[in-house]
Amino acid sequence: MIQDNLRRIQRSIPIDVVMVAVSKFQPSEAIIEAYDIGQRVFGESRPQELLSKYNQLPKDIEWHMIGHLQTNKVKLIAPFIALVESVDSLRLAEAINAEAHRLERVIDVLLEVHVAQEETKSGFDAAELERLLKDGVLGSMRNMRVRGVMGMASLTTDKTLIREEFTTLRSIFDHIKAQYLPHVDVLSMGMSADYHTAIECGSTMIRIGSSIFADR
Ligand SMILES: *Cc1c(COP(=O)(O)O)cnc(C)c1O
Repeated sequence: MIQDNLRRIQRSIPIDVVMVAVSKFQPSEAIIEAYDIGQRVFGESRPQELLSKYNQLPKDIEWHMIGHLQTNKVKLIAPFIALVESVDSLRLAEAINAEAHRLERVIDVLLEVHVAQEETKSGFDAAELERLLKDGVLGSMRNMRVRGVMGMASLTTDKTLIREEFTTLRSIFDHIKAQYLPHVDVLSMGMSADYHTAIECGSTMIRIGSSIFADR
């Protein structure tokens, strides 16, 4: 079932869009099923769970952290994480940079931007992010490299609103690339319910959980 789901989604998206298989709460056996047909990029939302799966599973898996990350948990995942998609504060960015420095590595990150209506969702708001980029702090950390932007649309069936929010994320990404960080290349947006819309709005990376791992 997992393998059929993966193949079906893969066939429905452009080849240059990266699909992150969101495996939070899934057992290692489910991840291996996806791995066995070539899936290598997986996303997790809890540092402890991520660490234990990293320890159990093949070492060529590319792990993405997609959930809110507390600064005191950075050290659990810093040695092996491929991309932290959920950098939502300057304090977290500084903690990642410091730990990466200690490990003598560079950690790739995405800046999470809050565009949805729910106040509960995390992320920088656009004005705050603009200020930090203007100050140059986020772009000048030597052991943390900003690769782009991540965001989530509101949990709603209102397609127009979802499209507006993805379009906002796209313009924030374009603005950062044009004004501040010309090397950025990742716009991570789109989940099971809305990835087709996200891709139409310029997404380069989608994060899919339930459409892969839930029985359909
Ligand atoms: C859980 C999660 C996803 C995947 O959501 P699905 O609706 O199951 O595809 C994507 N992104 C983030 C940040 C998540 O927490």
